[in-house]
Amino acid sequence: MAHATGRRRGRFGRFGGAYAPETLVAPLTELERAFYEAVEDEEFLLAFADLLARWVGRPTALTPAPTLGEQLGLRLYLKREDLAHTGAHKINNAIGQCLLARRMGKRRVIAETGAGQHGVATAAAAARLGLACTVYMGEIDMQRQALNVYRMRLLGAEVRAVTGGSRTLKDAVNEAMRDWVGSVTDSHYVLGSALGPHPFPTIVRTFHEVIGEETRRQILGAEGRLPDLLVACVGGGSNAIGLFGPFLEDTEIAMVGVEAGGRGEALGEHAARFAGGREGVLHGSRTLVLQDEHGQIAGTHSVSAGLDYPAVGPEHAWLGEIGRVRYERASDEQALEAFARLSRTEGIVPALESSHALGWLIANAEAWGGRLVVVNLSGRGDKDVETTRGLGVGDGGA
Ligand SMILES: *Cc1c(COP(=O)(O)O)cnc(C)c1O
Repeated sequence: MAHATGRRRGRFGRFGGAYAPETLVAPLTELERAFYEAVEDEEFLLAFADLLARWVGRPTALTPAPTLGEQLGLRLYLKREDLAHTGAHKINNAIGQCLLARRMGKRRVIAETGAGQHGVATAAAAARLGLACTVYMGEIDMQRQALNVYRMRLLGAEVRAVTGGSRTLKDAVNEAMRDWVGSVTDSHYVLGSALGPHPFPTIVRTFHEVIGEETRRQILGAEGRLPDLLVACVGGGSNAIGLFGPFLEDTEIAMVGVEAGGRGEALGEHAARFAGGREGVLHGSRTLVLQDEHGQIAGTHSVSAGLDYPAVGPEHAWLGEIGRVRYERASDEQALEAFARLSRTEGIVPALESSHALGWLIANAEAWGGRLVVVNLSGRGDKDVETTRGLGVGDGGA
């Protein structure tokens, strides 16, 4: 958490900020103050560390991937966020924010979810800490992810269907914010990625930096040196900033964030904000946004629901602009190939989101021959097997 107090009030160059309705200005200020106090409070930090260790199951392993590494001509390691409780990195942020909510005296949390992963993580964290939980989810996503809706309800959460707009994640965020405006005295909004108005991008980054901090210790233990390259997929950007954050000042380490290239270059066919986006404001933050010539938010496509969002976290927009992190993309096809390949070579079924990071590395391995590479395996692929089976991936020994 070394960087928690070092941010410049949520401004990342000209990106970030807090473009929120007036009714949210006071709650955001209260949240900012509570957050900075909490991360200076030994008791809070100990409680967070204890939950990460004994409930989330951290540290997660840093696993060598010798077979795939050898095929690619790299020394390859995987940071195993797939082994964290509920199956992805998202739980780090969910339990951190729920602990913060409880410290602030809130009795209820609100969350938005697309594929359901953040909703499940928040429902689990709320159950653990005795908080009521309401999750907003687009009607279409509820149909696509019926099993996760059931899991959230099993964990005691109320799942509310969002029937407006495109009935997907973007609309669920709007509804969650609307709820928060009306319920802020007893509710906290657990935002699910490194997005939204300040202080959210900084809060989310801080609770996920445990990923990079563990990776540093583990790679030094295993190899006696720091890696040459870090690779992570970028939806909103939380797993990526969690890994990259603690290494940003090690300027000799290259970093690549991988977006969803989807099935083509045209607007609506991908979620590659760095390639196809323009500066704009979405959900309270100035960042790169996929939009049409009239500034209307564009549709997006990705085979992985977790990368399918029209804006990127503002800190990533800035890290891309200053050239500290390179942002690349992997197509649906490259991700699906990587999904099957990691399953066969290393006995690990990765989330389709994480498969984008692997897919980019597989396509670009030659340029990194012999180097020490860490890929963030942000989640497990169990949630995706219905999709991949439907597409015939990995069937029949191909
Ligand atoms: C949600 C999710 C992502 C994308 O979110 P980020 O905030 O960009 O990390 C990536 N991988 C998995 C497994 C996810 O569930």
